[in-house]
Amino acid sequence: MDYILRAVAADEKVRAFAIRSTEMVEYARQRHNTSPVVTAALGRLLSVGAMMGAMLKGDDDVLTLIMKGDGPVGQLTVTADSKGNVKGYANNPLVLIPTNYAGKLDVGAAIGYGTLTVIKDLGLKEPYVSQTPLGTSEVAEDLTYYFAKSEQTPSAVALGVLMSPENTVAQAGGFIIQMMPGADDDLAAAIEQKLSGIRTVTEMMEDGMGPEEILQLVLGDMDLQILDKQETRFFCGCSKEHIARGLIALGKQELQSMIDDAQPITVKCHFCNTDYTYSVDELKELLEFARVKSAAKKVGIIGDDDA
Ligand SMILES: [Zn+2]
Repeated sequence: MDYILRAVAADEKVRAFAIRSTEMVEYARQRHNTSPVVTAALGRLLSVGAMMGAMLKGDDDVLTLIMKGDGPVGQLTVTADSKGNVKGYANNPLVLIPTNYAGKLDVGAAIGYGTLTVIKDLGLKEPYVSQTPLGTSEVAEDLTYYFAKSEQTPSAVALGVLMSPENTVAQAGGFIIQMMPGADDDLAAAIEQKLSGIRTVTEMMEDGMGPEEILQLVLGDMDLQILDKQETRFFCGCSKEHIARGLIALGKQELQSMIDDAQPITVKCHFCNTDYTYSVDELKELLEFARVKSAAKKVGIIGDDDA
């Protein structure tokens, strides 16, 4: 089971999140048939997205992370909620590039130079949107920069995805450690010192360490308190009805021209790579819905917001 731990340490001057995301990343790999380097890139972003979702306070709050670079992957999109559900996709899932100088999957080159966009929909009229430049494009460093720059929260972010020899996901996980108001430079230096001496997340996981043991290793001598443990998973809430709403929103003319083509149409949910097919008869039903809807709008039964 994948899960996220939420913890505090040093008199709540430090907060921490740690995740085991092996199953979620393997599921994403299977759904999207991603190449190893894209599995690593998307897996890191899914892992950090799930933890940032756990930072959201409202039940209906939604977080979206978009890494858009000039590398062959194109764009990575991840969406998470506050209940441990996360989903995501890569524009080009099949990228194959040489490993980097260290013999590792070259996530940075696969993504390339570009921007990280963080969108938080907190149920207000406008979502909160922040954009920062990508640095290494290795994901963890880019999120560290985001937290410092956009949230003024000094943070350490570590993320890892380890592939098996069969190119399935052997281990995936990570952690975020953040300095809260009141944390002084000595505390930050002590944590930095600790982090400089530990192995990578996936090396520790290969040795049987889980999120608890990893947090214990870093913050164990700073009065670490685990506050809660939340299940997390790759989950896309799409359905044929849900996608149909998008088709209705295209409008009567667009639907009529699809019907005139006299061919069923297939719409793909990018997040989970599921195809939904609508027969001509179903398209006619949707057109009827669109007609009723626009008639209702005209007489003021439903507002524009519902369109
Ligand atoms: Zn879907």
